[in-house]
Amino acid sequence: MAKLTRLDDIVSLCKRRGFIYQSSDIYGGLASCYDYGPLGVELKRNVRNAWWKAVVQMRDDVLGLDCSILMHPMVWKASGHADKFADLVTLCKKCNTRTRVDHLADGEQTGAQEHTEHIDIDIAAGQQHDLSGKKCPACGAVGQFSKPMAFRLMFETQMGANVDDTMTLFLRPETAQGIFVNFRNVLDSARVKVPFGIAQIGKSFRNEVTTKAFIFRTREFEQAELEFFCKPGTDEDWYAHWKQQRFDWYLNLGIRKDNLRFRDHDPDELAHYAKACVDVEYKFPFGSGDWQELEGIANRTDYDLRQHQRGMRTMNDWFEQKGDLSKIALKDEDDNYIKGPLAYFEEQTRDRYVPYVIEPSAGVDRSTLAFLVDAYDEEEVKGEMRNVLRFHPHLAPIKAAVFPLVKKDGLPEIAMNLYNGLKGHFNCFYDEKGAVGRRYRRQDEAGTPFCLTIDGQTKEDNTVTVRDRDSMAQSRIPLDQVKNFLREKLDL
Ligand code: ATP
Repeated sequence: MAKLTRLDDIVSLCKRRGFIYQSSDIYGGLASCYDYGPLGVELKRNVRNAWWKAVVQMRDDVLGLDCSILMHPMVWKASGHADKFADLVTLCKKCNTRTRVDHLADGEQTGAQEHTEHIDIDIAAGQQHDLSGKKCPACGAVGQFSKPMAFRLMFETQMGANVDDTMTLFLRPETAQGIFVNFRNVLDSARVKVPFGIAQIGKSFRNEVTTKAFIFRTREFEQAELEFFCKPGTDEDWYAHWKQQRFDWYLNLGIRKDNLRFRDHDPDELAHYAKACVDVEYKFPFGSGDWQELEGIANRTDYDLRQHQRGMRTMNDWFEQKGDLSKIALKDEDDNYIKGPLAYFEEQTRDRYVPYVIEPSAGVDRSTLAFLVDAYDEEEVKGEMRNVLRFHPHLAPIKAAVFPLVKKDGLPEIAMNLYNGLKGHFNCFYDEKGAVGRRYRRQDEAGTPFCLTIDGQTKEDNTVTVRDRDSMAQSRIPLDQVKNFLREKLDL
């Protein structure tokens, strides 16, 4: 049995081996921001690619999209984020720490409550909450809190150089809205039929009140989101379908089943428009409860498209009042409002409806952390500790390392030849420095599935030693079979 991994072990390995560094490290670091180093950037790209392959490439009913991060302010007005995307926070009068009200534990509990989602809060309204029995997670003081207030989670920025055309914009707090506002574009240009999905991977920004646990919760992060549009009435089947697909994705990439579970949202946790929501949770080695959200899957009904229909009407009315008729998009040739501009017309049945949406929404950084934690292992080999990342081959940053056993007798030339022949097909690494045992250990720590060593025998019979990361077993294969061997073993 693998030993229980501590987050500290992962953080230190990540820094030591170049997976993840603190942002702006040389200036003392910027809290909650991280940079992916040479191994991390490959790992994260492999996570992204695995998601894209499963959700877009392998399906005939999902298309990709890449929207801009800055969007029209009406997007956030219509979606509800501008008025409601906030956390309720309170200040501890004893230690001045600001905490999310929904993260406060009762006085007698030891840990903070973890299974809480961002819930919509009316930013303009006053907030009433009884915090008399609640405990500060920082100093332990009970009931010493200021009146809760709403704290807006979206980052603001200014667009435009001139005073009179400067506009305040938000950095997107989710990628999903970019998909909803392009629903019509994709429908009209890609000639798809409902049911179909639009998928996007990209950066999102939230000015989180509490960030924590390395890359688990940060203020800048990457999301992988799918909005799957379906006919009302078929939504429950699609919800079940995507639940299973997404759960299996983690398992197929090597996450241990014991560490993964579903958690259905209680009815009082559900957003008012959502019909159902479930979290895929991973047993992370931190926090009070261990189990933490990796991904949320929601049945969002027709809420988002309807909200944008309302938003479009508001904009049109505004342009009409201003007399700027060229901007009016919602009128037909007879000057009548087009009803339901984001509705779908089903030719076969002649039904017109606003599609329901099933949304699996995953965090790329959060799942990268889960893959790191799950792959991490320490074991004793011949009296020495070995650190190994047992990544699924699709996720491993380096697929194979090529070594000459010694730096002489023509071995480096043969090894370099092999490396040059492989690198166009797999991400490979060449290393000729130091004892070969140490080179193996370094690759174990990087999670490289195979090492290929050129030795004296190679010159006699054109074979190479293949060393397996997990079992450490060594075998010999012909040099000219290496590419096929890797292709087969890595399933690439
Ligand atoms: P949480 O309750 O953990 O703040 P949430 O329920 O608000 O998350 P969603 O809005 O459902 O999160 O976002 C979907 C996914 O995006 C999450 O499951 C998570 O993987 C990722 N995510 C959300 N916020 C962050 C963050 N601050 N840092 C890293 N990943 C995040």
